[in-house]
Amino acid sequence: MSDTLRTQIEAIARRLGFSAVRVAKLTVPTPSSERFQAWIKEGYHGEMHWMVRGLAPRRDPTLRLPDARSVLVLATDHHADVPPDPRGLTGRVARYAWGRDYHNLIGKRLKKLKRALSERGLNTWGGVDTAPVLERAWAQLAGLGYLGKNTLSIVPSRGSYYFLSVLFLDAELPSDQPLPRSYCGRCTRCLVACPTQAFPSPHLLDATRCISYWTIEAYDLPPRSLRPHFGRWIFGCDVCQEVCPHNHRPPSEADADLAPRHAWLDLPSLILAEDQGLMERFTGTPLRRPKAAGLKRNALLALGNLGDPAGVPAATYALQHTDDRVRAAAVWALHRLAPARVPDADPSPTVQAEIDAGPG
Ligand code: SF4
Ligand code: SF4
Repeated sequence: MSDTLRTQIEAIARRLGFSAVRVAKLTVPTPSSERFQAWIKEGYHGEMHWMVRGLAPRRDPTLRLPDARSVLVLATDHHADVPPDPRGLTGRVARYAWGRDYHNLIGKRLKKLKRALSERGLNTWGGVDTAPVLERAWAQLAGLGYLGKNTLSIVPSRGSYYFLSVLFLDAELPSDQPLPRSYCGRCTRCLVACPTQAFPSPHLLDATRCISYWTIEAYDLPPRSLRPHFGRWIFGCDVCQEVCPHNHRPPSEADADLAPRHAWLDLPSLILAEDQGLMERFTGTPLRRPKAAGLKRNALLALGNLGDPAGVPAATYALQHTDDRVRAAAVWALHRLAPARVPDADPSPTVQAEIDAGPG
């Protein structure tokens, strides 16, 4: 009976667009939860306080679904080639954010799957990156991927460009076996290539050094010592995935909903846009997360890193912004592009500190 149920679930999930479906047997505590707790204790999560709030259900999913027995792990492949570099004053966006917001898109697919499971008398809990769940740990236990030295879930020879969804079910399904080993071998490409040296050791990420953290999650400007290493990344960073040999394969079959729409963004037009207009432009995409001021902050840092005097008018214009993080980033960029344009004073201590700090 449970064999049949599993086959049915797999068929529905595939029809809905999930590229891989695996099942793990529920174990409490969640594998790796002690390690995750130690990571939080070290402060590697930075300002991502929601991670701390969700510690208990991450460790024990039965707090949310008391009769949970099985864990359904679903992958949605989004491997696509980087569109040609337009050059000029443009910034890079991480792959996962090139298309529609995966929370909405996959969330809708999951809703349909949950409905189908409910019609079979099953209760579920979970989602796509929205519930407090250690997705990569379950993906590892279910044999979908192994944990790479870059801390990501990697499917050998298929790579890490996929969204993970996890659903806990109150039914015992036949489970899969974890992969027999790590497939990193002696490779250290990701650790070496990380522009900000965010891996204190293999399998350990210090998010407070990671470009993705600073351009998406963090409210403040990144530390001055890190900014020059951000290059043109304005939303996330893919370096530790791009160098991974498991990602060196042809792109996946196109999923129209995930089609790349904004892999590269024009920096002056981001900076010069009205805040509200900018948010409207990115409706339904992950790019809204840092809000307009966060995006402008990121674009100004990239402008400073590009070092092209053509960026001076946009950086000068940003000195008028009401958000002191935008003005501070504009000062940082102008120190590099046109020091004579740096103002003498600003009422905000944050901006004044940038003015006084000089280039760097
Ligand atoms: S996303 Fe970029 S900055 Fe963050 S760990 Fe990977 S390579 Fe380093
Ligand atoms: S780049 Fe190499 S070390 Fe890093 S995750 Fe990929 S295979 Fe492992």
